[in-house]
Amino acid sequence: MTVPEMYGSLVFNDKVMREKLPKDIYKALRKTIDKNTHLEIDVANSVAVAMKEWAVEHGATHFTHWFQPMTGFTAEKHDSFISPIGNGEVIMDFSGKELVKGEPDASSFPSGGLRATFEARGYTAWDPTSPAFIKDKTLYIPTAFCSYSGEALDKKTPLLRSMEALNREATKMLHLLGNTSVGSVSTTVGPEQEYFLVDKEDFKKREDLVFTGRTLLGAMPPKGQEMEDHYFGTLKPRVAAFMHDLDEELWKLGIPAKTKHNEVAPSQHELAPVFDTTNVAVDHNQLTMEVMKKVADKHGYVCLLHEKPFDGINGSGKHNNWSMTTDTGLNLLDPGKTPAENIQFLVFLVAVIQAVDNYADLMRLSVASAGNDHRLGANEAPPAIISIFLGDELSKVLNSIENDTLFGAQSKVAMEIGASVLPHFFKDTTDRNRTSPFAFTGNKFEFRSLGSSLSVSGPNVVLNTAVAESLSQFYEELKDVPAEELSEKVHALIKKTIVEHKRVIFNGNGYTDEWIAEAEKRGLYNYRSTPDVLPVFVEEKNVKLFTKHHIFTESEIKSRYEILIENYVKTLHIEAKTMADMVSHQFLPALMDTVDKAVTIAAKKKQLCESISCKTEKALIDKLSGLSDSIYEGLELLKADTAKAESMGETLEAAKFYQATVLEDMSKLRAVADEAEELIPSGTLPYPSYADMLFYV
Ligand code: ADP
Ligand code: MG
Repeated sequence: MTVPEMYGSLVFNDKVMREKLPKDIYKALRKTIDKNTHLEIDVANSVAVAMKEWAVEHGATHFTHWFQPMTGFTAEKHDSFISPIGNGEVIMDFSGKELVKGEPDASSFPSGGLRATFEARGYTAWDPTSPAFIKDKTLYIPTAFCSYSGEALDKKTPLLRSMEALNREATKMLHLLGNTSVGSVSTTVGPEQEYFLVDKEDFKKREDLVFTGRTLLGAMPPKGQEMEDHYFGTLKPRVAAFMHDLDEELWKLGIPAKTKHNEVAPSQHELAPVFDTTNVAVDHNQLTMEVMKKVADKHGYVCLLHEKPFDGINGSGKHNNWSMTTDTGLNLLDPGKTPAENIQFLVFLVAVIQAVDNYADLMRLSVASAGNDHRLGANEAPPAIISIFLGDELSKVLNSIENDTLFGAQSKVAMEIGASVLPHFFKDTTDRNRTSPFAFTGNKFEFRSLGSSLSVSGPNVVLNTAVAESLSQFYEELKDVPAEELSEKVHALIKKTIVEHKRVIFNGNGYTDEWIAEAEKRGLYNYRSTPDVLPVFVEEKNVKLFTKHHIFTESEIKSRYEILIENYVKTLHIEAKTMADMVSHQFLPALMDTVDKAVTIAAKKKQLCESISCKTEKALIDKLSGLSDSIYEGLELLKADTAKAESMGETLEAAKFYQATVLEDMSKLRAVADEAEELIPSGTLPYPSYADMLFYV
């Protein structure tokens, strides 16, 4: 099979639909997909039949509604197509009703405070804009997951709502600017995904990796990532074989996996797809993470998606490349070539700048997690302060607008003549500032603060909604302006927005202390940890934003806020317990063995000859005894504080205590344990060391 033949072969895509569906049904479905219109049940029935036939032809026996509950993972419940017809015989059957609606028991999924009101009844609803596909002999139907009273219980529903809000506001704005041929605007996302591969046998021996996804103990080997010889390095044959297999599996599912390479850290890699419409890109990224794990398993690896699997070595993130595209094929963040395109670009650009400045707190919240707390602000990922990188050229353009040197005072005239066309050079993306959380890269923004395991839904909900809000404010300011004054008023609006929000633009090095001080002076948010930022979700300004654009109701926000707290508390609790367990059951015994051996050797030596010094043994025993006392004390403290945290329940107070106290206990305990590890002979610990795991993949 050639790649083009293989590509999308397991997807019920447009080509298959055109082939399999009667013409009028195809047209009706296309209208639902493109224009978001209601789907009639007879159309659904007809689509279901075609889908089932196609799926059965491709070996499927089951179907499942596939959804994204608040766990961050995807969920599925398989039903077979079989339907008994008497005489002990069955036919393969699938109805329109089964296609469009499912009724999974919702009681076991996180719902925050909503559980009381929705009585555990939930339903899934088909998202026809994201194509169905076959995996493991099952037809997967992408769906949204809601309670019976209509509250969103998943990550897809608010995303679709935010895309709709942006579509509405952006289209209105384009029409106002005279671009009336545009019928709709959608957002596009290309998520670059980082991950680690470790040997399956190694993984299984490490309780910390199994239970928490990251190592809680482990001394650094003599060589870390300082040589940077892994970045873009030659792929080792076994890794190359894994990547090859992964690409093929993704291509079959219609996921346009494009770029793959080694990352900075040893055993770390990256995969980037070609961008797609946001909801499809989100679904595809969830699938990519699942397929990565499955293919890794086949190759004797475990794929680690945790944000910080190894201390002292770069963790993994995800870059969310984001833009807005019209149904006429125009990228709204492409500066364009004509004055009209330039103006349009500038309006949307400053809308994004205003959005980020006003809702940087929500953007920070959207990437907050226990795992990502180890990266943000730790000089390996962007700082916790959200700012925008525009690059020198584009910054110069904004500067001239602010100072009236680009468009001149007679803006209307100036805008219509060629002289006002934006210089073209800033398409150049070589000027990369890796320290910026939100960077303009020529025709899109790259949000770089996401953790590797995160669903990309949340950050895009915030981006879409915040930009929709800017556009809605712009529209209110411009809607009653007479035609002949419009360009002048648009220019004034662009200028005003730059003046009001330029504080969020920063092109310098985000890793320096000067920037932290400067950001504080500028009044930018700096939320250092997840418990710090969680409360912004329920702040009035933010509740207003989400309710105004119908993204979340107030009760949906409260429930999600509770789920975030719960997740954080549970994660930290498991980490603390796992560490205590490993130290008492594995690390301390290994340390005792080492001391015991030294004591035995010294005793034997003395037996042999009273005058042998045993200097080495004595020094080792002395050093290890001291360290083991510290480890014991650290362990007791960790246990006591964990118990204290546990007694606080799943509250913000508990989250703060875990962050400030329990995590601190863990890092102190780890420091002494890692010091002791360097004195323990290799092979004594019942689990592999950093050197074993990181350099032999
Ligand atoms: P890098 O950031 O590694 O230099 P690129 O800039 O080529 O790589 O692209 C990174 C990602 O951005 C890819 O997934 C690509 O498909 C995506 N991308 C490119 N254009 C857009 C766009 N208009 N909207 C969203 N994502 C985009
Ligand atoms: Mg990138």
